[in-house]
Amino acid sequence: MRTLTGLQPSGVLHIGNYFGAMEPAVRLQEEGEAFYFIADYHAMTSNHNADELRNNVRGIAVDFLACGLDPERAVFFCQSAVPEVNELAWILSTVCPMSLLEKCHSYKDKIANGITPNHALFAYPALMAADILLYDSNRVPVGKDQKQHLEVTRDLVVKLNETYGEGTVVLPEPIIRENTALVIGLDGRKMSKSYHNTLPIFGDEKPLKKLVMKIVTDSTPVEEPKQVEGSTILALYQLFASESDYATMVADHQSGGFGYGDFKKRLAEAYWDYFAPMRERRAEILADPGYVDAVLKSGAERAREEASRVLGRVRKAVGLV
Ligand code: ATP
Ligand code: MG
Repeated sequence: MRTLTGLQPSGVLHIGNYFGAMEPAVRLQEEGEAFYFIADYHAMTSNHNADELRNNVRGIAVDFLACGLDPERAVFFCQSAVPEVNELAWILSTVCPMSLLEKCHSYKDKIANGITPNHALFAYPALMAADILLYDSNRVPVGKDQKQHLEVTRDLVVKLNETYGEGTVVLPEPIIRENTALVIGLDGRKMSKSYHNTLPIFGDEKPLKKLVMKIVTDSTPVEEPKQVEGSTILALYQLFASESDYATMVADHQSGGFGYGDFKKRLAEAYWDYFAPMRERRAEILADPGYVDAVLKSGAERAREEASRVLGRVRKAVGLV
């Protein structure tokens, strides 16, 4: 059983990334093999600043390790350290109907949110399929926003195997947990690095807690009951709080007499406390400058070995010499 997941170095990691992908990935590394990577080719669909990309890659590496990725158990590498993935993406593109990419929500959402599309952003799902298939991955923990891309991957597996024979590539399953599948951002949209509406996992206490105060609420007066359904504060609080604290918070919404400022304060505390052990681990990693480079280097070697085995099989099946 092999698990794979990737994170884009498109900004600072946030709690949506944590609950949607990283936390499940850390748990699944205990069962079977794991391949986790930093998707720098993908980040290039929206960032052309070389220094920023390099810094972001490093930042993601440090933060994922701090959140519990164990490089003894998981192969941890940078996507571009295995350029073979582009060849597999090309092969998949040749069996990928345009209509499959045209209906992808993520592409349409990014355009609707003012991001200028390029060919790479459009073709992203084919490269993502290659990311997964290059390692014969069985399970892919992701947030709900990636569900459709996983379906594209599965469609491409069926097409490639129908065209060139069963077993050319392996069919993966998404792992999407209902309660953390879509973490809402401060403005009520999906929390996304590119929407600047995130609660980062790491940062200084004051600015992070201040972000919580920015959560958009309605203007119900203090003494009146507050809406539970659709509340961003409650949805986020549930990620961090114990069941009993969460039940108290719901009851306090329903009874009235508490203001949104009070609820936000409770959320800010719970959020800050939750990541305390990860912050400690992060400080240790940052104190050892050679550690991250060594992890990524050894991960790249292991990933590349596996990639060349799988790509060799695919090349042979499709008739490349
Ligand atoms: P970008 O805005 O650049 O697309 P992102 O914030 O969406 O960045 P990605 O690197 O695209 O983050 O996604 C990494 C992983 O985190 C994916 O598995 C994705 O499904 C998951 N993820 C991202 N945002 C959320 C969210 N709000 N809730 C749950 N999971 C999420
Ligand atoms: Mg995304």
